[in-house]
Parts: sequence; C-alpha cells; structure tokens
Amino acid sequence: MSDCVFCKIVAGEIPSKKAYEDEQVLAFYDIEPKAPVHILVIPKQHLAGAAEITAENSAVVAHVFEVIARLTRGLGLADYRVVTNNGADAGQTVHHLHFHVLAGGRLGEMA
Ligand code: AMP
Ligand code: ZN
Repeated sequence: MSDCVFCKIVAGEIPSKKAYEDEQVLAFYDIEPKAPVHILVIPKQHLAGAAEITAENSAVVAHVFEVIARLTRGLGLADYRVVTNNGADAGQTVHHLHFHVLAGGRLGEMA
C-alpha cells in the first residue's frame, strides 16, 4: 500500500535498523522502544492487521513465529513477549500486520 509506513520500510523508502530479512518477512528495531529490546516482525505482504489473517494467507504468520524463535535465540533472548494490536482501541497505530517482540528485562504484567 502506497501510504503505509511499513510497506515503505519493506521497499527501502524509509530507513530501518534491520534484525532479519527473507523473502516473506522483515524484522527491524522499533523506533520508540517500549522495552530494552523491541523488534517488530512483519510479513512483507500488506495485511492491515490480525483480523485479515485467513486460511489462505496464514502460512506467513507461522513463518513469522519461526523467525521470532530463531531471531531471539540468536540474540540470546530466552524470555520475551510477542504482541499484536488489532484496531485503534487496542493501540494499533500502524495498519500493517506486525508482531512486537519485547525482551531484555523483567516485563510488566499485561495479560
Ligand atoms: P502499534 O501501535 O501496535 O501499531 O505499533 C506500531 C509501532 O511501530 C510503534 O511501536 C512505533 O514506535 C513503531 N514505528 C512507527 N514507525 C516506525 C518506523 N519508521 N520505524 C520503526 N518503528 C516504527
Ligand atoms: Zn503495509
């Protein structure tokens, strides 16, 4: 989508600090970290949020979680939290499906 910040990051039109990339997925550091380590993992394909996950496109979500497991292992992070916000009331500000990976210390209770 042309006006989507994360699509622009995927296209290289907006810079990011990349943590991992393959054909389907990009991981990069959040610009406003909410934990000592805060990485966003996104499918390169534009989906507005978790509510757009279907039987047809859900393979990329499984891949995202494989990437998260490998990436955190590589960074020596045994303990981490994965969060996705769907919709404005849940705190979603960027409407391109993304998974927050929060780690690097004792995280406050959330759910
Ligand atoms: P959410 O509020 O769940 O939609 O999360 C969006 C996240 O994207 C926030 O944590 C922002 O700090 C982060 N963010 C927004 N723009 C950028 C950017 N250009 N590079 C890295 N992270 C970003
Ligand atoms: Zn997008």
